Amino acid sequence: MIPFSPPHIDDAIVNEVVAALRSGWITTGPRTKLFEQKIAEYCCIKKVLCVNSASAGLELMLHWFGVGPGDEVIVPAYTYTATVEVVVHCGATPVMVDVNPDFLISVENIRKALSPKTKAIMPVDIAGMPCDYEEIMAVVNDEEVRRNFQPANETQERLGRPLVLSDAAHSLGAWYKGKHTGAVADITVFSFHAVKNLTTAEGGAICLALPDNFDAEAIYKQLCAFSLHGQSKDALAKTQVGNWRYDVYECGYKCNMTDIAAAMGLVELDRYDAMILKRRKEIFDAYTQAFGSDDRFQIPEYETADKTSSYHVYALRIRNITEAQRDTIMQRIFEQEVSVNVHFIPLPMLTAYKNMGYNIADYPVSYDNYSREITLPVYYDLTDEQVQQVCNAVKRSL
Ligand SMILES: *Cc1c(COP(=O)(O)O)cnc(C)c1O
Repeated sequence: MIPFSPPHIDDAIVNEVVAALRSGWITTGPRTKLFEQKIAEYCCIKKVLCVNSASAGLELMLHWFGVGPGDEVIVPAYTYTATVEVVVHCGATPVMVDVNPDFLISVENIRKALSPKTKAIMPVDIAGMPCDYEEIMAVVNDEEVRRNFQPANETQERLGRPLVLSDAAHSLGAWYKGKHTGAVADITVFSFHAVKNLTTAEGGAICLALPDNFDAEAIYKQLCAFSLHGQSKDALAKTQVGNWRYDVYECGYKCNMTDIAAAMGLVELDRYDAMILKRRKEIFDAYTQAFGSDDRFQIPEYETADKTSSYHVYALRIRNITEAQRDTIMQRIFEQEVSVNVHFIPLPMLTAYKNMGYNIADYPVSYDNYSREITLPVYYDLTDEQVQQVCNAVKRSL
């Protein structure tokens, strides 16, 4: 059976994890700090905070901005539940909008969904392809939008408009108009979950690229504490002689990254472009080669004039089929020992969101994208022969 997305774990990773285990310091410490610096350098931004998941990072930042009951956050209907559950956890109202045929949130729909209650917009870089950030930033910087914005605290007043909080769980290493993701939205959150391009088993990173009237260093310090119970000193600082006394400034979260996780991340980031992205691109190109000239298939965009994907998900669509036919095709592909997937079931089709009143009939593009989509396996250890096996299985099944 060809698996869908196993992690690539080799001696370099095992050795670095063992070194972390033997170092005498296993939770947040020097390796986490170094990993944060390396991500900041990679994305060309000032500050990065690592946490234990992207979900935790997104929720932390909504709280940092003071998003709460009565507020609205604009989100795409076509995403994973993590993007939207964090809005619900904050007590705010998710305002779901439809996406474009390229799977990404529609800027036009964002514009229509804006209200004086809008506190944040959460674009999602589905499959690793960056959203239309320049257009999204233009929308939030629109004079009328700024005038209608109702700040409820000092941070919101300083920004003077809705926050653009990017769910970049898929898009580490992607490019948008000459910049890496991480540097294009106000705040960007990456995921290092086991199925993502770069993994620390579980993990995430918060990238700060706020306007210049924000002090990234001060926010970083505040977030360090906020991700560790709101405590004035972390465990490492407390180990220094005589440095035992601490204070708690606010009731914080517990979502810090461990040095064991950071050990994995350091090894992977070091070779991410040359090894991981290179191989993923080769596999994407091989699929495009196999399906691109056959008009039964609709291949995904992953390199355009303005954007380069991180090659996270190869979202193949079949033309002129129903959802039931797609399910049958997938079943046949599985029967040929190839694992495939669907990214994603639109949120209005899931019970929790149906119960909140969302209806898939209001999101026709999301439904169309979903109903004809099959995600093909892409991972470092997938061989050229296996890629051919996948292509043959898909064509035979269709
Ligand atoms: C994986 C994923 C997340 C959540 O990442 P975690 O690190 O598991 O919390 C968020 N959004 C999207 C689109 C994802 O695919």
